[in-house]
Parts: sequence; C-alpha cells; structure tokens
Amino acid sequence: MVKSERADATAASGPQRAMARLGLTRDIDLALHLPLRYEDETRIDRLADGREGETLQVEATVADCRVETRARRQLVARLTDDEGESLVLRFIHFYPSQQKQLAAGKRVRVRGELRGGFLGREMVHPVVKPAEAPLPTTLTPVYPTSAQLPQAYLRKAIASALVRAPLAEVLPPGTVPAGLPTLRDAVTFLHQPPPGTALATLDDRSHPAWQRLKFDELLAQQLSQQMSQRERAKLKAPVLRAPRGGLHEQLLAALPFALTQAQRRVADEIAADLAAGTPMHRLLQGDVGSGKTIVAALAATIAIDAGWQCALMAPTEILAEQHFRKLVQVLTPLGVQVAWLTGSRKGKGRKEQLAAVESGAAGLVIGTHAVIQGDVVFAKLGLAIVDEQHRFGVAQRLALRDKLEQSAIEPHLLMMSATPIPRTLAMTYYADLAVSTIDELPPGRTPVVTKLFADDKRDTVIARIRDEVAQGKQVYWVCPLVEGSEAVELRDATATHEELTAALPGRMVGLLHGRMNGGEKAAVMSLFTDGTMPLLVATTVIEVGVDVPNASLMVIEHAERFGLAQLHQLRGRVGRGAVASVCVLLYTPPLSPTAKDRLRAMSETTDGFEIARRDLAIRGPGEFMGARQSGDALLRFADLQDTGMIERAREAAARLLTEQPQAAAAQVERWLASRADYLKA
Ligand code: ADP
Ligand code: MG
Repeated sequence: MVKSERADATAASGPQRAMARLGLTRDIDLALHLPLRYEDETRIDRLADGREGETLQVEATVADCRVETRARRQLVARLTDDEGESLVLRFIHFYPSQQKQLAAGKRVRVRGELRGGFLGREMVHPVVKPAEAPLPTTLTPVYPTSAQLPQAYLRKAIASALVRAPLAEVLPPGTVPAGLPTLRDAVTFLHQPPPGTALATLDDRSHPAWQRLKFDELLAQQLSQQMSQRERAKLKAPVLRAPRGGLHEQLLAALPFALTQAQRRVADEIAADLAAGTPMHRLLQGDVGSGKTIVAALAATIAIDAGWQCALMAPTEILAEQHFRKLVQVLTPLGVQVAWLTGSRKGKGRKEQLAAVESGAAGLVIGTHAVIQGDVVFAKLGLAIVDEQHRFGVAQRLALRDKLEQSAIEPHLLMMSATPIPRTLAMTYYADLAVSTIDELPPGRTPVVTKLFADDKRDTVIARIRDEVAQGKQVYWVCPLVEGSEAVELRDATATHEELTAALPGRMVGLLHGRMNGGEKAAVMSLFTDGTMPLLVATTVIEVGVDVPNASLMVIEHAERFGLAQLHQLRGRVGRGAVASVCVLLYTPPLSPTAKDRLRAMSETTDGFEIARRDLAIRGPGEFMGARQSGDALLRFADLQDTGMIERAREAAARLLTEQPQAAAAQVERWLASRADYLKA
C-alpha cells in the first residue's frame, strides 16, 4: 500500500510540473485553457457503415484474444458486433490488464481509426472500455498539451478546476454585448459542448461562447491601456513652448526648403503636446523619405529653447552618425551644442561628450539606443526621440520607459517609424499612443521605378551600373540576407565586392558590413556621402534611414529572401533627391508563392501604407505581430481581425473606467494579472 502511494506521488508530480510549465497553476488558468478540438464519444457508430481512415466508436463482443508472435509479438483480439460484422484489434505494446479486459466473451466499447487490414477491418491501439461504461453526455475536449502531460490527466484537472474557478460575473449589466452568455456559461460550454453543437462555429471562433471570451479579453486589454494612459496623464512633464525669435523660428528660417503641409501639421501636433505639461507619448509615422528628421529637429529646438535637453536615439551607429552630421550642420550655427555618443568612440573624446551631457552644456544628445540607455546621465532630459521605432520590440520599449522614469518629472517621448501600424494593431497594442502621420512626400520626388530581374541577367544589371556611375550618380548594391549566418553573409558580400571592383576598373567600390567597427563604417559611409565613392556594396546594415540624395540606383540581390517591410526600407534609400531612381530586385527562381506576392507588391506600389497592408495580408496578423513583438502573443482568444469587437471593447472600457472603476480593476486582474507589465509597454 505504502509503496504504491509513493509511486503515485512521484507520478503525479511530473504532470503537475508539466502543467506549471504551460502556465496552468491557478484554477482560472486551467479554466481558460481551451480545447484544440473535440471528439464525439456520445454516439455508438455502426461498424458496417465505417470507412477506412474514419475514427469510429463501436460496441462488440470479443470472440477470441491471444498473443501472437509471428512477425512481432502482439496482442490480437477478434470482435463481432450485433450485426455479425467483425473487427480485429491489434496492440504492439500491451499490459496484462488489457488481455483481461479483452477476454473472450467480454462486451467492449472501442474507439479508434478504422483500417482495412490483411484480415479485414482493423484498429491499431484503439481505446477500449467496458460496454457498461456510461456514454458521456458532452463532446470530449482535446487540449493542447505537452509530452509529459497526458491528455486524460489534463482533462481531469481542468474538469475539477472548472467547478472551483472564480468565474462569477464581475462586469455590471449592460457591459457585455447583448446575446452573449455569462462568462461561466461560455467557459463551461467551450470545455463541454453538448452533442450536436456545430463544430464549425467553435473552429472559426464565431460561436457566442467564443465571442464572450474574446470580448472579455479585449476589454481587459483596452482597460489596461486606458488605465496606463490615465496614469500618464497624471504625471508631470516640462511645459515646453517655443518663444518668439527662439531657436525654433531660427531653424525654420534657415531651412533650404519649405515644410510640406503634412510636416507642418505634425509639427504643430507635437508642439501642442510639448506645451501641455503632461508627458507626450506620440508616434510619428511617415513613409521613408517623407522628412521626419526635420520634424524631430524642430521638436528638439523647442525643448532646448526652454532650457531642457533632448536625446535622439537611432537603431544603428551609421544612422546615429548621419543624424549627428546633419543636425550639427543646422544647429551649431544657432549656438546649440550637440553631443554624439557612440559605442566605438572611447577614451577622452567620450569622457568630454559625457561631461557635456551631464553638465547640461549639450542641448542635443545623439546616439544609439544602447549607448543612451546605458550609463549616460542627463542634466535635464525633457524630450526623448526614438528613430525607426519599428525596429524595437516590447522589451526595448520597457527598458526605455524604465530609464526615462528615473526622475520625478517625465520627459516627453516621440517615436518615429516608417512602417505604419495597421489600424486594428494600433487600437489594441498601441491604444495609449497618439499618432501623427506624414502622408505626403516633399515635392519634386520622382517615384522609384522597381524592376524584377532573374539573376541570370546580372550582366545587364552591371552594365546599367556602369552607365549610372558614368553619369556621376551613385549606386547601392545590397547583398543577400543569410538568415542566422553572419559569416556566410560576409563571405557573399566580400565576393560580390571583388566581382564589382573588377567590373568597374578605376572606380572606388566600397564595402560595408556588420563586422566592421563603428569607425570603419563611418569612414566608408563618409566617402559615399561626399560622392567620392560611386558604388557601395553593403549588407543590410544600410537598411534604415541612410540618406544620400545622389544615389539613384539600388540593386538588391536575392530579393526573395527579404521581408516586404525590409525591401521597402531598402528601396527608400534611393529616390531621395530629384533624380529619377531605379530599384532592381534580383531574384533566383523558383520563387515560393509568398516570395512572388512580396516581389509583385514591390513592383506594383511605392506607398508604404499600401505595403504595410499587403504585408499584413501576406503574413497574417500573427506573424506580423511576431516580428514586431519578438514572439509575445498577447491575445489568446481574440485576434486583430475582430475589428468590430475591438471597437466595442474600447467603448465599454472607457465607460467602465469612469463609472465602475472597481469592476474595471477586477476584470484586469482576472485576465492580465501576470502580464500587466508587458501591456503597459
Ligand atoms: P525620413 O522620413 O525617411 O527619415 P528624412 O528626414 O531623412 O526622411 O528626409 C529625406 C530627405 O528629404 C532629406 O534629404 C531631407 O533633407 C529632405 N526633406 C525633408 N523635408 C523636406 C521638404 N519639406 N522639402 C524638401 N526636402 C525635404
Ligand atoms: Mg529617417
């Protein structure tokens, strides 16, 4: 007795650990662990009607059962049903108890896949129960599980948790859309649907029980977003206003061009936020080349004029350096000290820069995120600007928030992105973010023409490069992306660099790749920027933000390996000046269907918003989010296609927060207790 009890205890701890690993610790977690699919064990099927490959549940009497050893040792039972049809059961692995269960004369209920064997109908390793066992009254759930957690164990655990789980309604009447069941009824239904339930409505999640869960989940998420928005509204931020005749006006006057109408509109939206006294939390989106940098610079001057510092963060050193060069050019004449912090600049130079930031002498501080979020101490940080925000996941947003929240007065935050967020995504994951959109390109741009070439046309492309270069224009050649192998990427880039150097005698051909240190990269970039170097061979390190208006041709090798957003970013490196530009996508057939879709999208449109829509359509919201959020699937039940439901949840959340804050808190606690942190990001 004692011995078997101990055996039970260790056996139970395995599945329990496996449950914990799946996040199934509380009753509510188990209650919300929904079936993948269902099996109908409520009916007894006719053996005579069964077709090969079908899963059947039949009742029959054992005619004979024995262990056979011919080919392989196995237990073979022959059964006959009431209509005289016969069925053979075969077990390669079996226990003595199964032999007993299948003794001749016993009447059993078996469930398994029907096969047409050598000796007629067969089932291999079917589930066998005594025929007297009561038939279940509901469909049988099949749960997602892991190897260490048997389905039967999980079923039992969930069934008992379901009884105990705190599923009482916390929402006041009128909150949930009409026609949806209570939460307890919805959850119970999804675990134990009655026979005859239309399984298609459970599969596609359109059943009212599913709708109820989606609504609750979205409501909790909207609540948490709106709560953090309200929290933020209580925080204090410096009031930043551009004084008459100040830096802001001087910068505007010094610009060699007039702002587009869209730039003026978003600059005004940002200025209004900066003057409001609560922290700005705004996303500035605009297609590549739409002129976000100058809008950022204008915001910076407002902060500096008011006696505060501004930090501008870029995802790469190349981009940080480019910002530095450009902004120094326009801001130094106005008397603003600009500090530049890079990972590669060490020693005395870096110390001086850090000191200028710490003393407040530097009004604008430019660097990569890594550097600025590291050990930098600001005298008076009033505005943080994050460029190319789409390159960062939730974790980085969180890290930045922690860094910014160190002082009593919060800095304003402006994020910039060339990859627009689709509307439903913005409503769910970025609900607490104000969005400004630049929907217009500066005048005089000729849209980039995109051409597709199979890679056997490489020579034609190289001839084209010679022509461009002969006319004094500049060319990018982007080397293939090699997923997971920087070494192979580098080897390919080096080989291409040699090939092109040989093909363009007497011309300087540069090479830029991720293994170079910051100083080396900067040296190559500056030769390209000042026009000395007509052709630059690069890996995707040049993907974001690089601005050389004289570049008129971009060749992307193995374009089929790149994602749509990435191709669009790369293409955005040309067509930045008045010259007509071309982007050549070299591909290697055969193309997969999705690669074909991507390349077609690239050749059909240059509109970043349209590209984002197509990207979402090609990849689906799951993957689109995946790339963005580094795999944190934050919605379990609802998805971004549930636009109507998202809208309703948003309205309900606003009402609930104002009228019944306690119910709102209970709803968030139930659904998001363990992920509150992520949702605030
Ligand atoms: P992005 O939005 O991709 O960051 P940039 O800020 O780098 O774009 O601007 C792209 C180019 O357009 C730059 O060379 C910039 O000087 C120029 N530019 C920005 N605004 C205007 C404008 N209103 N008129 C003409 N050129 C502009
Ligand atoms: Mg930019």
